[in-house]
Amino acid sequence: MSDIRGGRPTFGTCENCGLPVEGRRAIDEDQVLLQPGEFPAHRIPEQARWHLANGIAWPGNDTAWCRLDHAEVCPAGPEPEHRALRELHRRLALRARIAQDRRSR
Ligand SMILES: [Zn+2]
Repeated sequence: MSDIRGGRPTFGTCENCGLPVEGRRAIDEDQVLLQPGEFPAHRIPEQARWHLANGIAWPGNDTAWCRLDHAEVCPAGPEPEHRALRELHRRLALRARIAQDRRSR
């Protein structure tokens, strides 16, 4: 996923777990892979929150909903300590397994 144009999402799959991700240009790095959808900010630990401004991803947020860095919950990675992230990690692990089963049929 190297075709990142400023402000526009690049939809693809995580190369580690195979689940859909949304690539965004980030303010302090080339790109961040966000988990598709928005999450209630109060359930997400501060360091995992992102928001979009003009299509560019910024760490942190100041609204009730936030975006989430896929790396925080990627089922190919270690189980997170934070409870809400751990629940999501488990749900995604199941989803990744189902997707993998379908592909190998
Ligand atoms: Zn992943």
